[in-house]
Amino acid sequence: MVGDELLEKETRMNFSELGLDPLVLKAVEAAGYSDPTPVQAQAVPAALTGADLLVSAQTGSGKTAAFMLPSLCRLVEPAAAKGYGPRILVLTPTRELALQVEKAAGIYGRELRKLRTACLVGGAPYGPQLKQLSQPVDVVVATPGRLMDHMERGKIDFDRLEVLVLDEADRMLDMGFVDDIKAIVAKTPATRQTMMFSATLDGVVGRLARELTRDAQRIEVTRSEDPEAKIEQKLHFFDDPSHKMRLLDALVRDASLNQAIVFTATKAGAEDLSEELRDRGFLAEALHGDMPQHKRNRTLDRVRSGRTQFLVATDVAARGIDVAGISHVINYDAPRQAEDYVHRIGRTGRAGRSGVAVTLVSFRDHQLVRNIERYTGHTLAVTTIPGLEPTARPSRPRPEGGKSWGDKPGYKGKRPGGSGDWKAKSGGWKEGSRGKPWADKPGYKAGGDKPHPAAAAGLQPAHKPQANDKPRRAERFW
Ligand code: AMP
Repeated sequence: MVGDELLEKETRMNFSELGLDPLVLKAVEAAGYSDPTPVQAQAVPAALTGADLLVSAQTGSGKTAAFMLPSLCRLVEPAAAKGYGPRILVLTPTRELALQVEKAAGIYGRELRKLRTACLVGGAPYGPQLKQLSQPVDVVVATPGRLMDHMERGKIDFDRLEVLVLDEADRMLDMGFVDDIKAIVAKTPATRQTMMFSATLDGVVGRLARELTRDAQRIEVTRSEDPEAKIEQKLHFFDDPSHKMRLLDALVRDASLNQAIVFTATKAGAEDLSEELRDRGFLAEALHGDMPQHKRNRTLDRVRSGRTQFLVATDVAARGIDVAGISHVINYDAPRQAEDYVHRIGRTGRAGRSGVAVTLVSFRDHQLVRNIERYTGHTLAVTTIPGLEPTARPSRPRPEGGKSWGDKPGYKGKRPGGSGDWKAKSGGWKEGSRGKPWADKPGYKAGGDKPHPAAAAGLQPAHKPQANDKPRRAERFW
């Protein structure tokens, strides 16, 4: 069996065929899971052999159980070494994800005798964590920074450690945890099993993986089971901040919306926008990294119980949130990275449900949209709301003479205004320098024969086609 056939068999596999210990299997059944997800079908049997694993799996794919179930099977037998330290250590990039993983350990390990778990995350008081570490602990889920604090104070040892999991390794590297991770791994026994989960296994993640694992088995879950497939992805263009707010107002009134996470680029933005939504009569709350942990937990509890309909959040704060009621993700501020886009939209379409992800962009964000589409392999459907259609004004004029920027004399590889706020730099449209605004150009009629934005902006594709590129979709606006 090869390819699709093998995959089909794997996806049809039953949990009882994976080789899990009966106690763990019982807990899986109690959790209500009927079949393993593709990443579980592939990773669980491999992990049970004790091999190191490198798994590329998206958020929402069931990756937590993929590493937690086989790891917990080890706890059925007593530890080989003496000590109080954890037998399973999971590192995660954020506190929210850590709390969720610890909760999952409790659910999947509920049939194990006296399972002891600890969650060591920053922003939480040291006292309860120190108390947990003063007794034997089986599973520790931690963010790297706080774990380093405990290590430096000599409060945790890894003599008993059997499994190390790096969850969302790419994100931990993005967040600058590489040195902490290396320092932590250096203190763990060489005999450990290492499992690394990441959206991507290329580049720096791949290099770290080679350093930290031995003869690792690589598991890549193919796009066909991508959780994004059940998420409807839409794109709305806005002209200016007031148009953007009117679009948001219309989107949040959508009758099909149950609960939503609205993403902003900044903490202040999350505060301001949640206040704006509350002023408009919506049950909205902010969530960002400046809030103390207990406040973040309370906010999340209110989201889980449905008392809060709109969570206005920044990327880091929202990572790992798993609430089945979230029907919509609204990228009020577009994510700067395609990877962030994937993590954001993964907050909807949870637990087998479908979801809607809406991204608001200005016409200047064309490259970002292209990056997202190339990264995800999905086309974002350009959508309009009757009465709120964008006027599609060009963001930049074509240079005089109709040439592209690249052909313009004096052009040295950088378009004028190509980065940052060109208006601030150039003082806006200047007669004779960069051409007139379109509205002043002879023959231009407002709302009539507007130039096509692509022609208007004189944009050149920034990306040169590569041999391994995905097929390009038809050009739409640019
Ligand atoms: P994760 O990717 O680990 O964040 O999991 C995403 C969601 O899928 C969580 O709500 C899990 O409880 C759920 N889940 C994990 N495995 C299964 C499964 N085999 N069947 C149904 N739901 C699952």
